[in-house]
This record gives sequence, structure tokens and C-alpha cells, in this order.
Amino acid sequence: MNVKGKVVLSMLVVSTVIVVFWEYIHSPEGSFLWIYHSKGENQDSESEKVPSRSYYQNPEVGDSRIRKGWWFPSWFNNGTHIYHEEEDIDGEQEQREENNEELQLSDWFNPQKRPEVVTVTGWKAPVVWEGTYNSTILENYYGKQKITVGLTVFAVGRYIEHYLEEFLISANRYFMVGHKVIFYIMVDDVSRMPLIELGPLRSFKVFEIEPEKRWQDISMMRMKTIGEHIVAHIQHEVDFLFCMDVDQVFQDSFGVETLGQSVAQLQAWWYKADPDEFTYERRKESAAYIPFGQGDFYYHAAIFGGTPIQVLNITQECFKGILQDKKNDIEAEWHDESHLNKYFLLNKPTKILSPEYCWDYHIGLPSDIKTVKISWQTKEYNLVRNNI
Ligand code: UDP
Ligand code: MN
Repeated sequence: MNVKGKVVLSMLVVSTVIVVFWEYIHSPEGSFLWIYHSKGENQDSESEKVPSRSYYQNPEVGDSRIRKGWWFPSWFNNGTHIYHEEEDIDGEQEQREENNEELQLSDWFNPQKRPEVVTVTGWKAPVVWEGTYNSTILENYYGKQKITVGLTVFAVGRYIEHYLEEFLISANRYFMVGHKVIFYIMVDDVSRMPLIELGPLRSFKVFEIEPEKRWQDISMMRMKTIGEHIVAHIQHEVDFLFCMDVDQVFQDSFGVETLGQSVAQLQAWWYKADPDEFTYERRKESAAYIPFGQGDFYYHAAIFGGTPIQVLNITQECFKGILQDKKNDIEAEWHDESHLNKYFLLNKPTKILSPEYCWDYHIGLPSDIKTVKISWQTKEYNLVRNNI
């Protein structure tokens, strides 16, 4: 080969090296984009426009994003999205996952923080005590979900003047602070409703209901009324619902740590007792009957809750039991509470609230009770009840 030939050959070699090098620098992203765009533009000609398919199919080559970008469109939406859109979709998906990701119990709940009390049930449900929950994680989670929480409360007869105002003022201050709340207030005389000013995320709906003659029936018929309201509108308005007695006052934050599918409250006087001591309904004739040897906890009907669908089931089942008892001319010893205890025996609650959430100061203040969230009002049955 003459000199001229050698020069031409070396120029050819050099230019080939430059071209190959240039391709090497630019090819993964650049070619990928092109390939991807071409798939979007015209899928049929995909094979012709993919010059080095095997290169991209080799999982050892390129970074994972590129590989994902390659594999992903082949089974995602027939590969009709262009790469940039795909990236956005990935981002949105991540965002959605972040928002909707189920919070694991261990993320927010640490039963070891309260070793002296029962913090986990036999069916692995948390019993929420002060100190066991991480508010920051819970607030972050529920804040993103933009939840609305409902709260039903009944005040019939003298319960309106005696309890309703204090209940609502304290609930406005302490119930689900920072979250949307709807109070569902059931009274037998709307004109006697106390006027109270609610905070920015709070609203209320007042309903006039027919008063029953006996206080036992006023208490029990709540199950029917709550169920009807859930079906008619509450199910469309809230994510979680609590149902509470009016003869109690919020003392401290009652927050998102209490939310769950179905939530039951431990009765303050019985949380340390043996199930055989509980004042369950013990007569076989009643629908609320619980035999000795059975039972987990004694639940307080002054607070229960859950998702609207779960609360609907609770109230409907309890009301069925109440009606069956009426037909059989029997009344459970603790009325709706007896039926609620029967319900939660058969349908275990997914979360239980410690007696800190509904404490009676007449018991005193044992060291177990770190923060009282709600306290009982003094029972003044002679003043508030129609029939004693
Ligand atoms: N209630 C009412 N008027 C009555 C009796 C009961 O409004 O005459 C409602 C009220 O919300 C009350 C709940 O039913 O908190 C249960 O009754 P109560 O609190 O008297 O029962 P206890 O807690 O003493 O078992
Ligand atoms: Mn009560």
C-alpha cells in the first residue's frame, strides 16, 4: 500500500472510530427516545425502526430506567405513550402510591410503649393508649387523604340544655383538629339548639327527631336513626364516623389515631375486670345474650365508630337485636350497650380505644390514665331523664 493509500485508510479508521465513539456517547438515551417515539407514532413499523433491538433487550446494558422504558411500553397500553409521557405517568403513579399506600400498623403504633396495659387484642387489633401512637406519621398520612370525619350526637328532652352546648364547644376544640368534621346533631326541638361558633374546618347539620317516651327507648332508637342517616346521606359525606353520647366533654385531642374500620371504646369501670364479671346480658332469651366464659372486653356505647359502612352494619345489627327483644318482651340490661357488646363479640372491632378516651373521674385517676381525652359528665338522671 502506498503512502496515499495508508493516509486514506488511517483517515477511514479515524473517522470510523469517531463515528463509533459519537454513537457510543449519544446512543442509549438518544436512540431510545427515537425508538420510543417511533413506537408511539407508528407501531406497525416498530421493528424496522429499531435497529439494535437486542442491545436494548440485554438487561445488563443501560440503566434500569432505560430498560424499564423499553419493557414497560410493550405491555403497558400497547406502547402508545411516548417516553416523556411515560415519565409523567410514572411520577403520577408514584404520587398516587404515596397518597394511597396503606399505612401499616407498625408504622404508627408501638405497643411496647405501654407495657403495663393491654395494647394488642387476641385478634391482633391495636388498643390505642396514650404514648403508643405516632401523631406525626398519622397526621401526614391522613392530611394527604383529605378526610372528613362525622360525629353523631343526640340530645332529646332536657339533655339539650344540660349537655349539648358543652359537648359541642369541646368537640369543636378537640375532635379531629386540622381535619374536616361534620357534626350530625339530632334533637327533638330545633328551636332549643344552642348557638355555637365552629372553627373553620367544622360544619354541622341539625335534624329534628321524634322523641321516645322512655329514656331507654331514646337511647336505643339512636341505632335506628343513625343507620337511616348513614344510608340517606352520611355515607356520601364522610370517610369515618363516630357516634357519641352527649353527656361527656372533650378534655384533650381526640385525633386521627382513633380512626379505623370499626372502633370500640373500653368502658372505664371495667377495663381491668375479668369477662365473667362484665355486666353483659346474661339471659338466654335476649338477642344480646353472652354466656359466661365468653367475651373479650366490656365496651362502652358512649363512643363507637368506623367507616360509614361498618357503622351502618353495627347500628342495623344492634337495632335488629333490639326489635327482636321487643317482640319477645324482653329488654337487655344495658339497652343498646348490651347489643353493642354482643355485636363486637361476634364482629371483632379493628381498633379499640383505651379508657383514656372516655374516662370517669369518679374512679379517680390511676397511673394508667395518662391523658383524659373525654370525661364523663356527672350522672344527674333525676334532672335529665323523663322516667327514672
Ligand atoms: N339521650 C337523650 N335524652 C334522654 C336519654 C338519652 O338525649 O332522655 C341520649 C343522650 O345522647 C345520651 C344517650 O342518649 O347521652 C344515652 O343516655 P345516657 O347518657 O343517659 O345513658 P348512660 O350514659 O347513663 O348509660
Ligand atoms: Mn351517657
